[in-house]
Amino acid sequence: MIPANFDYVRPQTLDEALAALAAGDDPKVLAGGHSLLPAMKLRLAQPRTVIDLGRIQDLSYVRHNGGQISIGSMTTHHDLETSALLKENCPLLPEVAASIGDAQVRNRGTLGGSLVHADPAADWPAAILALDAQLDIAGPAGRRTVAAGDFFVEMMQSAVQPNEILVEIRVPVTGTSVAYVKFAQKASGFAIAGVAAIVESASKTVRVGVTGVARKAFRATAVEDALRGKNLTSANIAAAADKADEGIETLNDIHASAEFRAHMTRVNTRRALERAGSR
Ligand SMILES: Cc1cc2nc3c(=O)[nH]c(=O)nc-3n(C[C@H](O)[C@H](O)[C@H](O)COP(=O)(O)OP(=O)(O)OC[C@H]3O[C@@H](n4cnc5c(N)ncnc54)[C@H](O)[C@@H]3O)c2cc1C
Repeated sequence: MIPANFDYVRPQTLDEALAALAAGDDPKVLAGGHSLLPAMKLRLAQPRTVIDLGRIQDLSYVRHNGGQISIGSMTTHHDLETSALLKENCPLLPEVAASIGDAQVRNRGTLGGSLVHADPAADWPAAILALDAQLDIAGPAGRRTVAAGDFFVEMMQSAVQPNEILVEIRVPVTGTSVAYVKFAQKASGFAIAGVAAIVESASKTVRVGVTGVARKAFRATAVEDALRGKNLTSANIAAAADKADEGIETLNDIHASAEFRAHMTRVNTRRALERAGSR
C-alpha cells in the first residue's frame, strides 16, 4: 500500500497551481486526498507530480452573492455541513454533507474533489444536479462556466480537463422544502440510491437529482414532468416516484443488484419528495 514515487508541489495561489499543472510531469492536483491517495496506494493512479491545493486560501469559502451562494472548490464537507449561511439559504447542502462517510472523511474531503472525481456513488452530484448549480473551471485559456447538467460526463469522468482546476460552485438560494434521502453502503456511507429533492410550491415544480444508481448521477426528469403543475398529494408523489428509474441503465455490482437499486430509487424518490414537501 505504498504509492509510486512522485514530486510534490504546494502552490500558494491558483495561478501558481495552474502553472505547475501546465509544467508538471504527468501531474494531478490533490484536494482532500480521500479518493486520490487510496487510488495512488493501490497504484490505480500513478501521477509523477502531485500539486497540493491545500495552501490556496481563496479556494475555501461560502459566500452570499445576491440570489446565489458561491462555494470555493476546496471547501470541506464539514464546513458545508456546519455553515450557518447554507443552513439559512440552501439547507440541502448541509443535509447532504452530514450524510457523507464519517467525521474524518468530512474533515478532509472537499466539494470540488468529490465533484471532479465523479464517483457514481458520491452524494454531492445528486444535490448539485437538483440545484442546477453552475461550476467555474480555470485552465490555461482562462475561466469557463459549466452547468451541472453538463458536468458529469461518465463514470469517474467530469467536464474538468487534466490541465484545469475546478474553482467555484454556485447554487441558488432556496426555501426549506428540500430533502436528501439515501440508502447507503454500510461500511463507507457511499450512496446505493441517493435522492435529492427540491419542491417549489409557488410554481408547482420539483427538481430531483439521483446518485449511486447509474454510471453517473442524473435528473429524474420523468418524475419532474409528472408532478409539474400538480399538488403534492401522496397519490401524485407515489405515481411520479414510480418513474424515477425510467430510461436508466441501473448498476449491478457487489453492493446491490440492478433490481434493488431501481426499487430503492423509486422508494427514496417518494420519501425525499414527501419529506421536502412537508418542510
Ligand atoms: C472511508 C471513506 C468514506 C467515504 N464516504 C463517502 C460518502 O459516504 N459519500 C461521498 O460522497 N463520498 C465519500 N467518500 C469520498 C470523499 O467524499 C472524498 O471527499 C471525495 O472522494 C474526493 O474529495 P477529495 O477532496 O478527497 O479529493 P481528492 O481525493 O484529493 O481528489 C479526487 C480527484 O479529484 C481531482 N481534484 C480534486 N480537486 C480538484 C479541483 N479543485 N480541480 C480539479 N481536480 C480536482 C484530483 O486530482 C483527483 O483526481 C468517502 C471516502 C472515504 C475514504
